[in-house]
Amino acid sequence: MEEKKPSNDSIIFLGTAGARFTVTSQILASGGLWLNLSGTEILLDPGPGCIVQFTKRKLKADKLSAIVLSHRHLDHSADVNIMVEAMTRGGFKRHGWLFAPADALEDEPVIFSYLKSYLDGIEVLQEGKSYSVGNISFTTPVQHIHSVETYGMVFTTPGHTFSYIADSRYFDGLCHSYGGELLIINVVRLETGHPFDHLSVPEAKHIIMELKPKAAILTHFGMTVWRAKPWEVAERLSQETGVRVLAARDGMTFDLSQLENTQS
Ligand SMILES: [Zn+2]
Repeated sequence: MEEKKPSNDSIIFLGTAGARFTVTSQILASGGLWLNLSGTEILLDPGPGCIVQFTKRKLKADKLSAIVLSHRHLDHSADVNIMVEAMTRGGFKRHGWLFAPADALEDEPVIFSYLKSYLDGIEVLQEGKSYSVGNISFTTPVQHIHSVETYGMVFTTPGHTFSYIADSRYFDGLCHSYGGELLIINVVRLETGHPFDHLSVPEAKHIIMELKPKAAILTHFGMTVWRAKPWEVAERLSQETGVRVLAARDGMTFDLSQLENTQS
């Protein structure tokens, strides 16, 4: 029997919509990911409706230690202001950090200036840097190819390592940068060969085969993936890659202890 590591790491999907049409129609929710990592709570990419999604699930915003934005696009940042307000109880409890790329903060900041003083601070994400929040650390290994400055993250908790590949056009660096037991990957398009800076299902398959995580979770679905039924796409990718591939569902909680008895 393999010895079990203690784990209190979970990821709640407050939305699975990606890009314009699934987000603007709210066919799928778009609230981002709520990470509870060994007691440290972090909100990642609070898109439109995050405020609705997290309150519906009885999560507590004032427990958040940080809000992390992979990039400034609306589907990743629209609710950052209201979530800073929620995290800080309307500014009465100065608290928490915001992490974001420079271009989300400079010429046309995604955060209102009056809210900045509610925070303990703002940290700028840069390629190859590492950051810490409580007992958690994360790195932003490589700048993505996307129309605005964008980073994914590799998170390390006391018990686990997992990666999040945010929006990007495919490039080989994605296959070298995002190790860990679990890979969360934004897959907007069903087919390759489109002019958008987003990953497609065949590209996600290639990345999963290269990185060989214990499990992979597809999310951030555009209309083409949604129409193809993401759970069926995930089942097919599981068979083709030999890696357990899941499709995220709105409101799904993934407990990382599920990875502990899985052979990689
Ligand atoms: Zn984007």
